[in-house]
Amino acid sequence: MATSQLASATLSLEDTIARSVEAIRDEMIAFLQQMVRIPTINPPGENYLACAELIGSKLTEFGYKTSYIQAEGLTENTLAHPRVNVFGQMKGSVPRPSLHFNGHFDVVPVGSGWTVDPFGGEIRDGKLYGRGVSDQKAGIAASIFAIEALRRAGIHLRGTVEQSGSVDEESGGFAGVAYMAQQGWLGKDKNDYVIITEPTNPDCVCLGHRGVYWFKVTTQGRIAHGCMPYFGVSAIDHLTDFLHDVTHELKPELAKRKTAVPVQPPGSRFASINVNSIFGGQPEDGTQTPCVADRSGAIFDRRFLSEESFESVRGEIHAMLESLQAKDPEFQYQLEDLMIVHPVHTDEHCDLVQAISGCVETVFGRKANLTASPGTYDQKHVVRIANVAQCIAYGPGLLNQAHLPDEHCMVEDVVASAKVMAMTAVKLLGVEPVTMVHR
Ligand SMILES: [Zn+2]
Repeated sequence: MATSQLASATLSLEDTIARSVEAIRDEMIAFLQQMVRIPTINPPGENYLACAELIGSKLTEFGYKTSYIQAEGLTENTLAHPRVNVFGQMKGSVPRPSLHFNGHFDVVPVGSGWTVDPFGGEIRDGKLYGRGVSDQKAGIAASIFAIEALRRAGIHLRGTVEQSGSVDEESGGFAGVAYMAQQGWLGKDKNDYVIITEPTNPDCVCLGHRGVYWFKVTTQGRIAHGCMPYFGVSAIDHLTDFLHDVTHELKPELAKRKTAVPVQPPGSRFASINVNSIFGGQPEDGTQTPCVADRSGAIFDRRFLSEESFESVRGEIHAMLESLQAKDPEFQYQLEDLMIVHPVHTDEHCDLVQAISGCVETVFGRKANLTASPGTYDQKHVVRIANVAQCIAYGPGLLNQAHLPDEHCMVEDVVASAKVMAMTAVKLLGVEPVTMVHR
């Protein structure tokens, strides 16, 4: 009997939460439209202050202690394009546990192919359109209104809730989440759980992402007259040799390496490499003179799996270059590391994943899909700089809409995700017993 009483009490708390989210859905969607109408395009990082202030004023209105965090000292923080993040904290009756929701409000450039105003926030057939709706202003609206729905239902959380809107995720997050973590706004000394509200599809919980190794290979040759090329050494020929090996040896090898991590889409469960750009010889738009190119190179994007170590990934590239040099002593090269992101993967048995998966099941009536992301996002900074191990991504946006023309998000998904987020906060932070008595 005690068990069934508990079950019915839990069920009615969930019903109360769901009803409260439904009651503020119009307000939530209107706020999302307001955010979408501010074109926070990155690069270069336009209108960040205006969007931070819109989010900040809503947080203040909803009872948070709000702060603005400008990435002072970083070169990308300029007068024309200040890097301004916003942070809000609402203390419960105890400081811990503490749950932090983070969402980035920078959006990628519009691109071509749109049939609606990318900053109009138009709703048609249950879809809200705009650049950055799915990736990921919808997530910011959902987390802010999830907690507000609890407050309006008279549900008082015991622990602390924090919300942040951050910048520059699309360009690496260094002036955003990385900066906030370095300055102590996010960290294991104050936060137990972090939910990044990136688009995962609303019934999916994303546990982490693959690793990234961006590198540049530059080949050196010797200049000579183009009518007597045998007097020179072509750096482009040497680059071609390396590109040949990448395409015909490395790529087939990488296609055999599959991770056990549930990366979505499944095509990204394999290791991969992409040539991002190539250069060499004379600039294509300049006047051409007949010369053997003495410098060439390319920039590569290697995505690696949790099962691969970074040392082995870099070592493999180095060995390919050394082998070319062993065959031809005139093969001169430089290998330069441009960016290294180690894979992150949160334990699916931890409290955060268990709690949010259970709430997804409550709202959707089916088990949550546990996934991992093919690309990286700010989880790397939360895990590596802030040292908060329990970090996941969960948000209403549609992953396959990110960066597309006519980007949109289902209005119903924003509402459903807000319910999941509110229930998760209750599970993780607890509620004051007095609330239960009043109900
Ligand atoms: Zn994003």
